[in-house]
Amino acid sequence: MRSQWIDPRYAEVVEVMGDLRRSGRRGACSACPGGLGYTVMVVGKDRKPVKTPCLVCNAASS
Ligand SMILES: [Zn+2]
Repeated sequence: MRSQWIDPRYAEVVEVMGDLRRSGRRGACSACPGGLGYTVMVVGKDRKPVKTPCLVCNAASS
């Protein structure tokens, strides 16, 4: 299913993004990918992906 080449360093991030996408949420958001309500960033030297609630989405929905 994955047709594009994925940098192994970011495989985990892609995984997390895939989870978010499968859990499916709202529509377009200018701040987070696909309006998922989260942004994913990689922190630390072990490159752990961390989900951060999207401020734009969460401000809009609360
Ligand atoms: Zn958002």
